[in-house]
Amino acid sequence: MATRTPLMSGNWKMHHNHFEALATVQKLSYLLGGRDEDLGVEVSIHPPFTDLRTLQTAIEQDDMPIALGAQHCHWEEKGAFTGEVAPAMLAKLNVAYVICGHSERREIFGETDEWVNRKVLAILANGMTPIMCCGETLDEREAGGTDEKVAGQVRAGLAGVSPEQVGGLVVAYEPIWAIGTGRTATPEDAQATCAVVRATVAEVAGAEAAERVRIQYGGSVKPANAAELMAQPDIDGALVGGASLDADDFAQVVRFR
Ligand code: PEP
Repeated sequence: MATRTPLMSGNWKMHHNHFEALATVQKLSYLLGGRDEDLGVEVSIHPPFTDLRTLQTAIEQDDMPIALGAQHCHWEEKGAFTGEVAPAMLAKLNVAYVICGHSERREIFGETDEWVNRKVLAILANGMTPIMCCGETLDEREAGGTDEKVAGQVRAGLAGVSPEQVGGLVVAYEPIWAIGTGRTATPEDAQATCAVVRATVAEVAGAEAAERVRIQYGGSVKPANAAELMAQPDIDGALVGGASLDADDFAQVVRFR
């Protein structure tokens, strides 16, 4: 059985200017014990675009145990796309992980499964790792449609991705009704849907890819609930919004064991 190192990712959304970002990662790195302590997890921070260069410099100069992440990108390499950022621009800043298909981007900015798929392919083509989000609304859950919705998003998002690449990426299962609401899926419900994600990956990319792929849970993860969620066999980390903004809270989530 493959050993999957949990990935604990902080999605800062539209919070923290570059001064606040710097102070937060410096404190976080200190609380995580720097490189001297092996916590057995990987950590990524996904700040707003305007903070990336500042954090890249800080992380590299101080050898922080933190990978740089982005929240979003376009799939095109360049062109007349006002306001967008190309994957190669992120790769140039040593961004390692890029979130795509977050429900806020799907719901507020109209991102479709097809766009998410193009982004997954573009992120991989630029040597970075996608964190591809999926998840159901409360109405879909109450109508019994969770598995179908999530499996459909995973199939669409991974279209045309090689099994080798699928095994190396990250899928984040985030029930939309649990994001930023304080409501968390029970560990059993989160596990059940993450198992559906893994079974869908097996269907599209084979058993080996499904064994390797890391599946995060996201939705009001905080210090008080991280351990029980992370104890589930198909949950390999967390995508954390609100609780990642504060270094003390996020360090506690990262140190869930
Ligand atoms: C998220 O931003 O993906 C998220 C899960 O947010 P929160 O932890 O605040 O629910």
